[in-house]
Amino acid sequence: MRPEERCFGPIRFIPGYNGGRYPYCHSIYVEDAGVIIDPASNRERLKQLQKQDMVTMVWLSHWHEDHFRDLDLFEDKPLWMHQGDAAPLSDMSVFFDWYGLDPGDDLRSFWEPLLKTDFHFRPRTPDRFLVDGELIDLGGITAEVVHIPGHTPGQLGFYFREPGVLFMADCDLTPFGPWYGDRYSSIEETIQSINRLRQMPAKIWLTAHETGIFENMPETIWDNYLAVIDKRETALLDFLSSPKTMDEIVEQWIIYGKERKPREFYEYGERAHMQKHLERLMSAGTVIWEPESGRYRRG
Ligand SMILES: [Zn+2]
Repeated sequence: MRPEERCFGPIRFIPGYNGGRYPYCHSIYVEDAGVIIDPASNRERLKQLQKQDMVTMVWLSHWHEDHFRDLDLFEDKPLWMHQGDAAPLSDMSVFFDWYGLDPGDDLRSFWEPLLKTDFHFRPRTPDRFLVDGELIDLGGITAEVVHIPGHTPGQLGFYFREPGVLFMADCDLTPFGPWYGDRYSSIEETIQSINRLRQMPAKIWLTAHETGIFENMPETIWDNYLAVIDKRETALLDFLSSPKTMDEIVEQWIIYGKERKPREFYEYGERAHMQKHLERLMSAGTVIWEPESGRYRRG
């Protein structure tokens, strides 16, 4: 079910096109204060806010393109975010580095025009860095900055204290589960951040994708979201009952369940996530890399 535009006190939830699925997200708008968070939802709606001069500044939860695609509408407004995610926004080459795409990788030339035309990439340098625990007085409403690394190093959530509304960005509680496939993503930090959000005293939970609005939160939703990580890892370990190459592991489609199109896009995600799990298993000694055979095996 696609969420609709809703208000929770002064916090307005603006649903993204495509049900808030990639390449869009849901945006959050703080009434009166004029703060727009993650402008990548509905370009027409965001243009309307801009034309009515109702936006005073932009906050970004993190550096991903499905959260900044309409940032170009607000080039004259201050941009606030966490320092940990600033580098890729200021330089497209760094942006690709952070996705783990080396210079010369075909995916770079595939993505470069898309980033410029579809995602309106313009290098931006934040005007101010937000830090964990900071309280920002937005005139009658207090935003608490919640640093939730893992998905990206500088991902931020925002807890609006008076209405008890918690925006959790890409800790999105989808059945797909969390993404931690970038160069600087971390499975451990992802788990810690989910658990931290889970313990906050919120009454309303908002996310950047899909369902978007949770007015009550059964414990099972958190459990299921975290369990995706374990399921992926268990499936990988099962598959390594005999030694496997990386290509064989990718062909197993443990993350996406089956081959998806465009293949290069999904194969990239599959490989990136499997790499993270392999690193985690290898540091625990559960999996060993055999350079002679070019295969991973159980330890
Ligand atoms: Zn993201």
